[in-house]
Amino acid sequence: MGEYFKELFGGTKSLVVGLGITIKHMVKPVVTLQYPHESLKMSARFRGHIELLGDEETGASKCVVCGMCQRACPSGCIALAGEKPEGAKKKVLTSYVLDFTKCSLCGQCVESCKFGAITFSKEYNLAGPRKEAYIFDLKKRLEERSG
Ligand code: SF4
Ligand code: SF4
Repeated sequence: MGEYFKELFGGTKSLVVGLGITIKHMVKPVVTLQYPHESLKMSARFRGHIELLGDEETGASKCVVCGMCQRACPSGCIALAGEKPEGAKKKVLTSYVLDFTKCSLCGQCVESCKFGAITFSKEYNLAGPRKEAYIFDLKKRLEERSG
């Protein structure tokens, strides 16, 4: 009889402890996300691949085609081009391609740009079976973002 009550007590205790843990976790703030339907908000210092920045009013690229970022990149990831339209004083960007397969996210390009024309994106969930998926046409991406 004593053994019976001992087992009953042990079982009830373990049930109460288990329920206590369940209830504690039910009221705790949720720390997981319904990926891929939800995305994490990355911190300000997070470095995704570089991205061109557009003018706040016109949306056009801030890049003046000086080539500093291209020269600063130790991995040769950046290929850019520009042209001077007839009658214009400045060059305009015609192409800006990033080979993200070679990028070490060192930040030399962003630091070298004195025009605030490039920054790190917040993209963290890139995935693809082919290398070509990581060759980014940043000018096109900027145009798509600007609408
Ligand atoms: S972060 Fe570094 S490696 Fe990547 S594109 Fe810029 S300079 Fe090149
Ligand atoms: S350093 Fe800045 S302005 Fe110069 S080419 Fe690179 S992105 Fe354009």
